[in-house]
Amino acid sequence: MAQIIDGKSVALQIKLEVKEQVDRLRSEYKVIPGLAVVLVGDDVGSVTYVRNKQKACDDVGIHSRTFSFSSDVEQKELEILILELNHNAQYNGILVQMPLPKRIDSRSLLNMIDEHKDVDGLLPSNMGRLVIGEEALYPCTPLGIMMLLQRYSIPVSGAHVVIIGRSTLVGKPLALMMLAANATVTMCHTKTRDLPGIVKQADILVAAAGRLGLVKGEWIKQGAVVIDVGMNRSPGGKLAGDVEFEQAEKRASFITPVPGGVGPMTIAMLMRNTLIATERQIR
Ligand code: NAD
Repeated sequence: MAQIIDGKSVALQIKLEVKEQVDRLRSEYKVIPGLAVVLVGDDVGSVTYVRNKQKACDDVGIHSRTFSFSSDVEQKELEILILELNHNAQYNGILVQMPLPKRIDSRSLLNMIDEHKDVDGLLPSNMGRLVIGEEALYPCTPLGIMMLLQRYSIPVSGAHVVIIGRSTLVGKPLALMMLAANATVTMCHTKTRDLPGIVKQADILVAAAGRLGLVKGEWIKQGAVVIDVGMNRSPGGKLAGDVEFEQAEKRASFITPVPGGVGPMTIAMLMRNTLIATERQIR
């Protein structure tokens, strides 16, 4: 039976570490890290995520403010806000909650964020630095996954890591981080042939497809580590991952639950990125 990777308690630990550093910045430099969140529309998921981020900021002592707009906001208005926030020293991090309404050109808006305040690590410059292994702000979810493996002393070097999903948010940056940690990486996506055959070879499987129950328990190699990033609604309305948890748990050595696995880590790493951004800005 697999050991459960408790993302909630690791995230709590990370937040305590961040809080310590936030307190230190306040007493030594009289600086309070600040995070600006831009929220457009009233999508229930987005509103909940933003509320959780705000709460995490409160927990660790980061000043945060949500700039809310109705879904018919003009692109120009959002652009003006981003430019203002870039120059506002109160905010060390800027986050635009995705998804934005289709009318809005999300990429061109994101690209206006000052790269030093890009706490989601989604700008081409920060992604590029990840490719060449330079210091930068890296995306929170993949960072959270690497941190979970580290805190559970799960070795990555030499491991065959199979990642399902090639998004800019999760799969691609994670592959780069895994390569930097000396893993052998296989990327899978919707056009991959024989997904079960590849998953069966994984020492570490990361499922980030957003497809309920895509990964069958019998695909998991005996003793493999299973990281489930997926956040799906089951027919009963419960939150569930991409992996058939009950069956996979019997074969895996370690497994993340959904909820309580990768999710809380993403927010903890956002807090950490905001701290890092602040430290670099006052350096
Ligand atoms: P996305 O839709 O942008 O990308 C999904 C990827 O999965 C694509 O590359 C696609 O090719 C691949 N894919 C989809 N169906 C597949 C299939 N049947 N077989 C093989 N590959 C398939 O999604 P995303 O933004 O990367 O998010 C993925 C999932 O992770 C979603 O459920 C999302 O809610 C969740 N997520 C969770 C967190 C967290 O903090 N826990 C953070 C980000 C995303």
